[in-house]
Order: sequence, then C-alpha cells, then structure tokens
Amino acid sequence: MSLMYTDMPLERCSNQRSNKQWLNAQFSSDEARFCLIKDDEHLFTGNENVHPIWLKRSQLFQIGINSCIFLGKENNRAIFALDSNKLNPATLADITELGQWLPLRKVTFSIEQADAAILGLAKALVYWHKTNLYCGKCASLNQLVEAGHARRCTNNLCHNMTFPRTDPAVIMLVERICDDGVPRCLLGRQAIWPQGMYSTLAGFVDPGESLEQAVCREVAEESGIEVTNVSYIRSQPWPFPASIMLGFTAQALSEKIDISQDTLEDAQWFSREQLMQFKHRDDNTEEDSYKMSSTDSISYYLIDAWKNQRIGQF
Ligand SMILES: [Zn+2]
Repeated sequence: MSLMYTDMPLERCSNQRSNKQWLNAQFSSDEARFCLIKDDEHLFTGNENVHPIWLKRSQLFQIGINSCIFLGKENNRAIFALDSNKLNPATLADITELGQWLPLRKVTFSIEQADAAILGLAKALVYWHKTNLYCGKCASLNQLVEAGHARRCTNNLCHNMTFPRTDPAVIMLVERICDDGVPRCLLGRQAIWPQGMYSTLAGFVDPGESLEQAVCREVAEESGIEVTNVSYIRSQPWPFPASIMLGFTAQALSEKIDISQDTLEDAQWFSREQLMQFKHRDDNTEEDSYKMSSTDSISYYLIDAWKNQRIGQF
C-alpha cells in the first residue's frame, strides 16, 4: 500500500532544470501543462467526476518562464506550477470559468494518486515561494531562480540564496503490553478535531535533535509516557503546508498517562479489539463512537498496520 501523496509519476530532472536552454524548451513545448494554484486551492473540473485541470501555456497569455515552477516530466510532457496571483484578473476570471477551486485534501480520494502527488508538490512549492518573498539576511526582494527551486536576493551586495524547506515531523505508534497482559497502542486527540477522533502522537523535530530523540521527547511531553526501542517505519510528504511526516514505532516503559504538560485534550491506550470498533472519521451515525484519523494520513496507516499486526513488536 503506497501512502497518499507519495505516488509521484514525475521525473524531477534535478540535473537539467538549471540549464536555461533546456528549461525554455520544456516551457515552450506545446506538450507543457500548467497547474494553477489560487489561495492554496487547485482547479478541478466542475462536475461530480472531479479531475485536476491542467492548463496549456496558450491559456495563460503573458505568463513567462520566470513566474513558473518546473515540477518535472512525465513521458515527454513537462509540468509547471503557477500561483494565480501572477495572472491578470481577466485571464484568471476566464480560467475560473473552467471548473472549481478546491483544497487538495477535499478531493484526495476522488482523483488519481499520481495526480494527488503532483498537486501536493505544486502546493508545497507555491506556498514556499509565497512565504519567501524577501531575503532573510537583508530583507530585499527575492526572485525565483533555478526553475523555481530556489530564490535569490536581488540586492547586488547580498545575492543570498534560499532553498525550499520541508519541516520534519515525527509521528509514532507507541505500543505496550499493559499490566493486564493485553497489547495496546497510545492514541491522543486535540480539542479541535472531530468528536471522537483519535490519532497517533506527533510533533516537529527541534533543531539539534535526532529523530529518535524527537520521538521520545514528544511522547513524554504529550502523554507523560517514557518510550524506548524507537524504530523507523516509513515517511509521507505532507504539504499542509510544508512538512514531511516520519513514521516510527516505539515501546512504552510506563502506562500511566499524564496530558497536563501539553495541549492534548485526551490520550488513551487502545487494544486491537477496541480499534476494530473505530468508525471512519466522517461517520456520524453514532455520536459517542471512536473514530480513526484521516485515511490519507500516515497516522491511519500506522494504526491500521498495528491493528493488523503488520508493524510493532507486540
Ligand atoms: Zn539579501
């Protein structure tokens, strides 16, 4: 089972995208397609059968290559991303008529997984450009360079380069054979989540910290549980807005939960039998039922895999 947003069909052409002649040829090709992003949303077909709309360069009129982000190539077709604020209002209005603007996660399960991966990449890079308009060293304007995979300060005395960043976050399935002999996993919930939804604990990696240390620290902070035997499982890009989720298992050394030191609303130990009773996140048929995290997330994968005894020691 591949995780959502990982099924990337594009060849990134990292060694070629700095070559302006090569890049211009990709941009000028009639085969090139453009993924437009407006306020963090993508353009999809307007009917119930939702598909992403890939635009041709001729539909963008005056757009130049210096406004576009090269994402990669599939077969002989280059795909670019573009922020809608680069278009003039009339062009944007015409394009908007073609379909509907929707957030990626709302249609993740209606579209091809390969498309979801491309749109996720586009979203991450457009977001990065929007939030790195100015140089972090001298505050002058940055400009897009290297096919959109870097920004360079326009101050001739500076020319500082900035590169896209991805914030690492650890997410962990903590397990334990509890004092009654039953294996259980530790899940928590935040107050803003749908009622009854529980998920694996997670948190951002601090500077100067190993991933294993981050797992131990986050679990201790959020639940008061000490863990050991931290093992890496797999990862998932999470462009909401700019993370990569790094999935782990860990074994708890203690059982008593204390959420008073952090922001979780609740945390509990759950057996496999209890997890079997969990409802879908959007299932509102039983108000007081427990619910799984979103099925597009690595959290869902970790819980489901542990439930089915495909990961973990216990
Ligand atoms: Zn600068």
